[in-house]
Amino acid sequence: MNTTPIQTRIIDGKAIAAELRAKITSDIAERMANGKTAPGLAVILVGDDPASAIYVRNKHRDARAAGMNSIEIRLDADCPMSRLLDEVAKLNHDPDVHGILVQLPLPAHLDSNQVIDAINPAKDVDGLHPVNAGRLSSGLPALVSCTPQGCLTLIHSVLPDLSGQHLLMLGRSNLMGKPMAQLALAANATVTIAHSKSRDLPGLCRQADILVAAVGRAEMVRGDWIKPGAIIIDVGINRIDGPDGKSIIKGDVHFDQVMGIAGAITPVPGGVGPMTIACLLANTLTAAKRLDG
Ligand code: NAP
Repeated sequence: MNTTPIQTRIIDGKAIAAELRAKITSDIAERMANGKTAPGLAVILVGDDPASAIYVRNKHRDARAAGMNSIEIRLDADCPMSRLLDEVAKLNHDPDVHGILVQLPLPAHLDSNQVIDAINPAKDVDGLHPVNAGRLSSGLPALVSCTPQGCLTLIHSVLPDLSGQHLLMLGRSNLMGKPMAQLALAANATVTIAHSKSRDLPGLCRQADILVAAVGRAEMVRGDWIKPGAIIIDVGINRIDGPDGKSIIKGDVHFDQVMGIAGAITPVPGGVGPMTIACLLANTLTAAKRLDG
C-alpha cells in the first residue's frame, strides 16, 4: 500500500473572497458610470445577539466598501411579529433597496419561516425564500443561498469540473446542506446527503471525492473518515474553550488529522466564512440588475 503523505492544499477563502469583492466593486462602479443607482442592501437585525451583531457589522462594512447603499435596521429583541413584517413590507416596496436580509436566528417568539415568506423573492439575497429554493432545485435562475454558493466557488478553485465526482453533503439545513446538494447536482456531481439519522457516517465520508461538512460539531470528521486526495470544505463554526480558557473557533473537520490525507481543505477561520459575505454582495448586485429589467 502506498503510504506517502499527500501535500494537502490549503484553499485560501480570504484571497478568493477578496477577488470576488474586487470584481463586484468594479461592476458597481461601471453600473454607476452608466447612470444606474447603487445596489441597495438592507439588513434587519432583531435583538442584540453579539455574534449576529458582528456578522451584520461586517456585511455593512463590506457592502459600503464595494460601493453599495447599505442600510441597517435594528429592532428590539421583544419586537412583535407585526412590526418585523411591516419593516419587510416597506423594504419590499422601496425602489432603492434591491436586497433584503433578515439576520438569523431570530428571538424565539418570532417565526423565521413566516418572515422569509414575506420577503419579495426578487430581493431575497439570502436565497431562503421557497420560490428561490424551488427555482434552484428546478434548474431555473434563482438567488442562491450565499454559503453554499461560496463553497462551490471554493471547490471550483481546485477542481473546475465536478462531473461524476461523488460529493457528500454532511448536514441538510435549508441554509446550507440542501442548496449545496442542488448546486453540486447541477454541476453534474453524484450527490449524497447525510444527517444525524444517517448510518455509518465514517463509511459514507470515505466514499466522497468532495466532502462538505456543515453540522456544527467541532472536529467531528476525523482523519480516518477521509478518502485520500479528497477535497474538504469545512463550513462549521464552533466556539470552544481554548487551553487558556479563551474561546477559539474550530471547524467540523479535525484539520490536523486530515492534513496529509486530503487533497485540499478550507481552513477555519479563513475558508468558507469570508466567501459568505462576498456572495451576499454578488447576490445583491444580481438582484439589482434583474430588478432594473
Ligand atoms: P443546522 O441548521 O443546525 O444543521 C445542522 C445539520 O447537521 C442538520 O442537518 C443535522 O442533522 C446535522 N447534524 C447535526 N449533528 C449531526 C451528527 N452528529 N451527525 C450527522 N449529522 C449531524 O446548521 P447549519 O445552519 O447548516 O450550519 C452548520 C454549521 O455551519 C454551523 O457550525 C454553522 O455555524 C456553520 N455555518 C457557517 C457559515 C459560514 O459562513 N461559514 C454559514 C452558515 C453556517 P438533522 O437534520 O438530522 O438534525
